[in-house]
Amino acid sequence: MACVSFPYDAPVSQTLFDRASLVTPGGVNSPVRAFRAVGGTPRFMVSGAGPYLTDADGREYVDLVCSWGPMILGHSHPEVIAAVQEAVARGTSFGTPGEGEVALAEEIVARVEPVEQVRLVSSGTEATMSAIRLARGFTGRAKVVKFAGCYHGHVDALLAAAGSGVATFGLPDTPGVTGAQAGDTIVLPYNDLDAVREAFAAQPGEIACVITEASPGNMGVVPPLDGFNAGLKEICATNGALYISDEVMTGFRTSKAGWFGIDGVRPDLMTFGKVMGGGFPAAAFGGRADVMAHLAPVGPVYQAGTLSGNPVATAAGLAQLRLLDDAAYTKVDAVSAEIRGLVGEALSKEGVAHTVQAASNMFSVFFTDRPVRNYEDAKQQEAFRFTAFFHSLLSQGVYLPPSAFESWFVSTAHDTQAVERIAAALPAAARAASEATA
Ligand code: PLP
Repeated sequence: MACVSFPYDAPVSQTLFDRASLVTPGGVNSPVRAFRAVGGTPRFMVSGAGPYLTDADGREYVDLVCSWGPMILGHSHPEVIAAVQEAVARGTSFGTPGEGEVALAEEIVARVEPVEQVRLVSSGTEATMSAIRLARGFTGRAKVVKFAGCYHGHVDALLAAAGSGVATFGLPDTPGVTGAQAGDTIVLPYNDLDAVREAFAAQPGEIACVITEASPGNMGVVPPLDGFNAGLKEICATNGALYISDEVMTGFRTSKAGWFGIDGVRPDLMTFGKVMGGGFPAAAFGGRADVMAHLAPVGPVYQAGTLSGNPVATAAGLAQLRLLDDAAYTKVDAVSAEIRGLVGEALSKEGVAHTVQAASNMFSVFFTDRPVRNYEDAKQQEAFRFTAFFHSLLSQGVYLPPSAFESWFVSTAHDTQAVERIAAALPAAARAASEATA
């Protein structure tokens, strides 16, 4: 890792981190939060308001993570908070059907045309796990194609990441995932339709589904090349496999109908999470009614959840989705474009090789001057420059994802004042990136 000094401290966060590390592995409940990729003390946040987060040391940050996507209206949006308070006052979980989950399902079906039926779950991981189980149950086939650099949650079969090459059979690269769990996973390079065609040709009648991030954000933002998603759909249709578009990150963020609203390619199944939960654990999978009819209790494929369709989570999600009209997306897209422009300008001024890639309002900065089309490209960047860039911004009150391989997120609450704070911090951060050494 680059030699980065931390010219500021966070004593309360550090004390909390020390306490956390005694009782929780690595002190965190999701690994990237631990700052291991960038070093330093993870900030323990105590509150959020609009585009700002405040940490346990009382420092305020412009938030460019937005809880990894969900907070598209900013933090503590009054209408979302009011909906949650109203729901909580009626009780927090009934374990029965309720009207809130019907309304949320109706909202999803109304927005995303290929979704004829939808099942609510509690996390994106559950959504993708259930979608591939359903695809296997529907097709009677075992194999699943995924792409290197795409993340679909910590589902055993989907954690397999590839070496390079065509039709690489995934090996368990996480201890705890057995060969049996990963052996039916085929990991291919992203944006490579020939690799997909070859995999189908090599295993006729064996592939249940192709799952892909609708527009990947988990290796940094790497949008599909023109025709890639349409090509996947066509190859799946020709070979009797299902095309699953994972919109956990892009869904209801990149447009009213997510990435489908942008590329119009109709998946057989889709997965959602993040924005649809309004900051609460709510996620979903859905799609063709004839496929969804294979799910219990109508069909034989079992899937269930104690807290699925939780009334508080569905109230938050519904309130957030109802506020996300065309004007809201126009606003988020505009502020994203403005910040991207500022970042590019600051890095260019310091002569730092970089490529800013965007998918609608999702974006990230790669420290390379070459376009990034897949995971191998993404890994070629000078990530050590990100470390210096990150810490400079953090010390100036701008909170980026603590990894060079993540999307940045903005919200409708990112106003002129928040953008000005970012603009003021960028020159020093760009200088730090330019001076960084590997
Ligand atoms: N799919 C995608 C595209 C994601 O980005 C994520 C999480 O970041 C997931 C699935 C898993 O969602 P969760 O973290 O809610 O389990």
